[in-house]
Amino acid sequence: MPSLDFIPYARQSIDEDDIAAVVKVLRSDWLTTGPKIGEFEASVARFCGVEQGVAVSSGTAGLHVAMAAAGIGAGDEVILPSLTFAATANAILYQGAKPVFAEVDPQTLLLDPEHVARLVTKKTKAIVAVDYAGLPCDYQALRRITEAYGLKLIADACHSVGARQGEHCVGQLADLTVLSFHPAKHITTGEGGMVLTRDAQLATNMRRFRNHGISTDHRQRAEAGTFHYEMVELGFNYRINDFQCALGISQLGKLPLWLEARRRIAAQYMAAFAKDPLVEIQASSPGSTHAYHLFVVQLPFAELSVTREQANLRLRELGIGVNVHYPCLHLHPYYRERMGYKPGDLPVTEAVQKRILSLPMYATLTEGEVNRVVEGLRLALKRDG
Ligand SMILES: *Cc1c(COP(=O)(O)O)cnc(C)c1O
Repeated sequence: MPSLDFIPYARQSIDEDDIAAVVKVLRSDWLTTGPKIGEFEASVARFCGVEQGVAVSSGTAGLHVAMAAAGIGAGDEVILPSLTFAATANAILYQGAKPVFAEVDPQTLLLDPEHVARLVTKKTKAIVAVDYAGLPCDYQALRRITEAYGLKLIADACHSVGARQGEHCVGQLADLTVLSFHPAKHITTGEGGMVLTRDAQLATNMRRFRNHGISTDHRQRAEAGTFHYEMVELGFNYRINDFQCALGISQLGKLPLWLEARRRIAAQYMAAFAKDPLVEIQASSPGSTHAYHLFVVQLPFAELSVTREQANLRLRELGIGVNVHYPCLHLHPYYRERMGYKPGDLPVTEAVQKRILSLPMYATLTEGEVNRVVEGLRLALKRDG
């Protein structure tokens, strides 16, 4: 068992004011479909500089809602990176569409627009840009492709709330932007997510889709004093509840400070590894500000006497948690067996995947703990260490 001073790779922060905000809702009349939903949606939308936010029960639900809003359906193709969480592609499959996996750039670890352009066919309907680790993709290049072929641009921004590219915040860079409030992410609602858009009509459609495809919600009917409702399309129950949203509002107030803390921690790691020939840092993309959900390094395990699994075990003994984000999606049995993907199909992503390691990164990580991680990594990588 990890000891008490174990440093995990991610950790949420819950203060007394977060708890008080949740308890207040528990004592109120509305546990779900109440006033905290709209308040949370408006607060996150304002923070991200967009008009509309639609809060849902998870980031995964958000991705599904976004796919439906983008009109993705049976027979369509959607291009996404293989270096992402399973949920990014699952949302495409939920709509009966086909995920088409593209390479990432080996330095930035972000979707490679040139490879994306080569994968576009007559069936392609959308591109999902994953802001890996918290760094925004090359949206200018991706936008050129979506405009040339009339595609939708969806941002899986589950890592990148609060990041910027040029003049724009995450939320303003794509047609639909999806956030996650899982405890490992920047701010949490336990489970939860949100889809951001400038388009009020899309937001209305998404609110209906998260509520079974029914055109009014419980509170609207209660306030109008009617029991009449109509289901106009097939939707899901993807609602988030009011005590989750109260937690989210409370957490959002701390996000600016937490983003600063994450950037300070990243700067400490980068200074420590600056002269280390073994440790390659994720390259920044010009004009972008990183949100550092993760701090990912690349290590030449093929040339070391230590495998990544051995390094992981040594680090655990030293009380340090690391992780790998992610196994290549196209090489999971599901895609090998059903779509015929095999090793060698995405050589750049597969090579990069063998080198990546996510080091501890969360807002309350102290300077001393970062030093422990840096020293621990050096020890773990040493021959016969
Ligand atoms: C966390 C995450 C999701 C899914 O979010 P949940 O809230 O856990 O459903 C999707 N995509 C990426 C890249 C993520 O990191």
